[in-house]
Amino acid sequence: MSDRYGDFVQSSIGKKVAKNLGLPQPVSLDRFESGQRLVRGSVLVGRAEGDDMSVSNSVARILSDLHAEVYVNSRDDAKDALIEAGIEAKANTGSKDKFKVLLFDASNISNADQLKQVYEFFHQVARSVEKSGRVIIIGRPPEDIDDVQTALAQRSLEGFVKSVGKEFKRGITAQLIYVAKGSEKNLDSALRFFTSARSAYVSGQVVRVGAGNTIDIDWSQPLAGKTMLVTGASRGIGEAIARVLAREGAHVICLDVPQQQADLQNVASEISGSTLTVDITSADAGEQIADAAQKRGGLDAIIHNAGVTRDKTLANMDEKKWDMVIDINLNSVAELNKYLLEKQVLKDDARIVCVSSISGIAGNLGQTNYATSKAGVIGLVDATARQLANEGKGMTINAVAPGFIETQMTEAIPFAIREAGRRMNSMSQGGLPVDVAETIAWLASPASGGLNGNTVRVCGQSMLGA
Ligand code: NAD
Repeated sequence: MSDRYGDFVQSSIGKKVAKNLGLPQPVSLDRFESGQRLVRGSVLVGRAEGDDMSVSNSVARILSDLHAEVYVNSRDDAKDALIEAGIEAKANTGSKDKFKVLLFDASNISNADQLKQVYEFFHQVARSVEKSGRVIIIGRPPEDIDDVQTALAQRSLEGFVKSVGKEFKRGITAQLIYVAKGSEKNLDSALRFFTSARSAYVSGQVVRVGAGNTIDIDWSQPLAGKTMLVTGASRGIGEAIARVLAREGAHVICLDVPQQQADLQNVASEISGSTLTVDITSADAGEQIADAAQKRGGLDAIIHNAGVTRDKTLANMDEKKWDMVIDINLNSVAELNKYLLEKQVLKDDARIVCVSSISGIAGNLGQTNYATSKAGVIGLVDATARQLANEGKGMTINAVAPGFIETQMTEAIPFAIREAGRRMNSMSQGGLPVDVAETIAWLASPASGGLNGNTVRVCGQSMLGA
């Protein structure tokens, strides 16, 4: 879908007009391209002082695997961890160096005064981040910490990261990763995702990495040999998910309603996947999915993407609109999970990823039915994550919550509201279906065993519900 204003401000005259009038200035975001390096520039690494080196050691190992060009500030003891990982970091000489990624290990911060180290590290390089750059802070989950001073300091990082996301502009994203003590070995997939162009439209997010099976994978084809099912795969976001999962090596079973058969077949043929036409609210949907999955030895992931809107203000909403949205978006997801888990159609280490919406986080006028269903999806993810962790089979469940994504769904929104939705985020533009798809592929990866119960917004850090 065309974004005429976005195109206009890319031109030299457009840039001048937007700057002079103080209008939003969306930049064209870096996105994943096959063959390109994961980190397209240099990485400045820093750490807060302290004895615990476990996060810095993991970061150094990952950067070494990525063959990243790494810089440190002089006398920073981040250097020691890097040397141990075989990286000879260059010294940051000051204003001339530009960085694609600023990465700070804040795991040792244990009181409010020590937060000054975060200020000092980022303050001096705040103007040195390249377009579509990445700011990443790694801390410890405050809920795991008994000491009040330490817990408040770690929680403070959230405000810092979210503010940086809003300030830096030019497609620069900012994230906070809370890694539980002892789970540093599980940092790889989150760090690779957030440093790369795959996370183009994800910003201001707080992600928790915890215990989970670490599975060695071929990072160039992380989903090779996996069978994954995507609901609502004939168009829009579902189609993009199917394409990205297939690009990463998965065999994709593309599911949609019988009316979408032709489009579904086109998508499946192009990605060498298979099709399943079934309404997910029908009584035998679980059985049909199980049959299709068993032919391929079971499912490594299910992506619950199918969803509908039937907007009306509450006073004008008839019962049918309420029931339909709750049934498709929420009930069917819960029913299918229950069936597929009970019948062991989902294999050990399987991934479940649900598509929620920022509407389910912030609420939205005319969407009591939709927002209820999408908030319910987050509740379902929270509760199921606990259940899966207790079962100990390595399975995980996470949600993505898209904001304004350029699809048929958002094309139908009246112009003024559409334009507001598109601009009211830190990227000043709508996201693309592929942005949601990349995030889902990350959560669906066998390497993401440490991610369970997260809801990741793909909304360019939308002001709604922020
Ligand atoms: P879309 O309408 O283009 O596609 C939805 C697909 O789901 C369609 O192919 C449809 O046939 C299928 N579907 C609907 N009911 C079904 C059923 N009962 N059984 C099987 N398939 C069914 O929508 P989209 O914009 O691609 O949205 C995909 C998901 O992302 C939805 O869950 C939506 O709520 C969510 N989402 C979208 C946006 C956005 O900006 N587009 C924002 C937030 C969340």
